[in-house]
Amino acid sequence: MQQSHLIKPLLDADYPLADHGKGIFIYDSDGKDYLDACSGAVTANIGHGMKEIIDAIQKQAEKIAFVYRSQFTNEAAEKLSSLLAEKTDNHLNWTFFVNSGSEATETAIKIALQHWLEKGKPKKTKVLSRWMSYHGITLGALSMSGHSVRREKFTSLLEDWPVLEPPYCYRCPYGKEFPTCGLHCAAHLETVINRVGADQVACLIVEPVVGAAGGAITPPDGYYEKLKSICEKYEILFIADEVMTGCGRTGAMLALDHWGVKPDIAALGKGLGAGYAPIAATMVSDKVMEPIQNGTKSIMSGHTFSANPLSCATALAVLQLIDSEDLLSKVEEKANYLQKKLKKLQSEFSFIGDIRGKGLLIGMEFVKGIEAKEPFPREFIFTSKLISIAQKNGLLLYPAAAGLDGRHGDAIIIAPPLNITEDEMDELCKRLREALLELN
Ligand code: PLP
Repeated sequence: MQQSHLIKPLLDADYPLADHGKGIFIYDSDGKDYLDACSGAVTANIGHGMKEIIDAIQKQAEKIAFVYRSQFTNEAAEKLSSLLAEKTDNHLNWTFFVNSGSEATETAIKIALQHWLEKGKPKKTKVLSRWMSYHGITLGALSMSGHSVRREKFTSLLEDWPVLEPPYCYRCPYGKEFPTCGLHCAAHLETVINRVGADQVACLIVEPVVGAAGGAITPPDGYYEKLKSICEKYEILFIADEVMTGCGRTGAMLALDHWGVKPDIAALGKGLGAGYAPIAATMVSDKVMEPIQNGTKSIMSGHTFSANPLSCATALAVLQLIDSEDLLSKVEEKANYLQKKLKKLQSEFSFIGDIRGKGLLIGMEFVKGIEAKEPFPREFIFTSKLISIAQKNGLLLYPAAAGLDGRHGDAIIIAPPLNITEDEMDELCKRLREALLELN
């Protein structure tokens, strides 16, 4: 191959050339197939090459691909925002479209700050977040991310936002056990708020199921109910970063739906366009919008491609396909099947410490010794070795990074397209077992 001018994740690595995709498989230019067990970056939620989506893209492109949001509205954006409102029972009634998850979380906190400003509480500016979290790579989003490996090189540019410990039951930061812990990790929010001063705090942002920074870490029941009630008590906006978990990944429109908790603001991304177009969204409740509607009547943010017709038409077709194939109602059954098979692998390989998750967002954490739960070193050598062996053997897995403090584990995420079949899940587990055997 000619010299590449593309800055790739690893400059000296030899990446295969993707040629085309069909269903849950990606084919490279040599014709080799890769079973996509992680939907790329937990994004290709309906797999590749779906004709309905391609047709919708073509139809919209023939009509009009781009208009600028301060000059025109457009049918696709209007329809998509209505459908999203409907899917949240008209609780998150307003949507602001952006291009990436990082922009969606940054827009969320901007709207939170603007809400308080227009409500006459300009001191409420602090953002609370958790360690072991990832809200995006741009500087504002990275500031709120408790992802020490990704923060490390840029700390001088970041605000020090993460303050809460994660709800990481496998390695409880407080050395406690559920349920006798009394959900201490959630209750601690109240201590933090009192220390900072509720009159200074604008919002709390959390990933309902921790993705890239932990590997599908799922809190116990009651955790989000408690966080939300503390936020309400102190007038703090509750923001759900559903960029990875939203749009059906866990079997519900929002992962928080599983706990019956309604966020004030939610960020969507990844599965919204399912990889067919770059699109993300910040969804906002009437309560949050009200002072802005009665005040400046404009959100002080926006991007050139915000609400562009092509991306919106794509996302609309994706959500309609999820509905027409009734994919969400099948997620739990598929997830149970897959988890059961993965647990079988756990009994065979002693270095699989934990298997967890919600719906088709599954984490597998590795340990040097199962009893001591000793993590592998921070460079996640174990994970990266496993991922490269798996890819060589035709299986794609997603890494979840270890933290810098030696307390975090080393994990992968398994999150195949929602329309994966039972036979394909069998093949996924067969390929994973082969990779684990080769690593062992
Ligand atoms: N929020 C969460 C929970 C994510 O998992 C990610 C990406 O992995 C982001 C935000 C950032 O999204 P993007 O990479 O589209 O900017």
